[in-house]
Amino acid sequence: MSLDHPHFSFESHEKSLENKVILITGAGDGIGKQAALSYASSGAILILLGKTVEKLERVYDEIIRRGGKQPSIVPLDLAGATLSHYEGMADTISGEYGRLDGILFNASILGNLCPFGQIKESEYDNVMQVNLKSQFLITKALLPLLNEAESASVVFTSSSVGTKGRAFWSTYCVSKFATEGMMQTLADEYKNTHLRFNSINPGPTKTDMRAKAFPAEDPSLLKTPLQIMPTYIYLMDDVSRGINGQLLDCQPS
Ligand code: NDP
Repeated sequence: MSLDHPHFSFESHEKSLENKVILITGAGDGIGKQAALSYASSGAILILLGKTVEKLERVYDEIIRRGGKQPSIVPLDLAGATLSHYEGMADTISGEYGRLDGILFNASILGNLCPFGQIKESEYDNVMQVNLKSQFLITKALLPLLNEAESASVVFTSSSVGTKGRAFWSTYCVSKFATEGMMQTLADEYKNTHLRFNSINPGPTKTDMRAKAFPAEDPSLLKTPLQIMPTYIYLMDDVSRGINGQLLDCQPS
């Protein structure tokens, strides 16, 4: 998307996500944690999904401390969860809220960065399960609830290796290309409806994943998750209605 796109100068109104029901995966840490805090500050009602319950509880407490609306917590390991887990989650969301206004697919794992010939099959399967197949299963289970919303936004998380291959980034790179494919397919299938599907490339951001991928890098030179939030809020805000099938870059060069 071009640099003159409005999201680059987007400033949200304080309560621009008022009462929107939004599911965030990987909400306990890194970018997902910040998205949870920022969306809650904008008035959203959040469903916090993640692997480590203590991290989710800390985000829950922080949201309440800041005066946000009471979120729900879904402790779930995407590596082992099945369609029936997500259907159960859909039943709970349906009973509690009756609709879903947004999903931020944020959770991912890097896997081992190694030469292609050394990728273990089990490692490949695990990365693809967490980064890709879980998104298929969650979308499948939650589409009926997204349809109940007046206007729903589904945001996938890409990467610079989601559009250009990079040596030794193996399965992570493949999973991000496929995430783009899933987003574009859904966007085309639901064009001209009240559902929209887009993806975000956060760019280099100060998190544990970034530190693992680039251990020699000076983290003080990186953007923080908070600094990239305008794009995350923009895509959940109703002002982005009509934006569909786009990859938005938080840190265009
Ligand atoms: P982090 O590793 O800091 O956080 C990842 C989050 O995903 C954690 O909350 C983690 O939970 C959760 N998660 C991981 N595995 C599972 C699982 N099996 N089940 C449930 N939750 C899980 O990553 P970032 O915040 O850096 O990355 C967020 C997104 O942004 C990812 O999709 C990443 O690919 C993308 N990205 C990040 C960039 C960066 O520079 N940081 C650059 C480009 C893309 P827990 O802590 O409990 O394990």
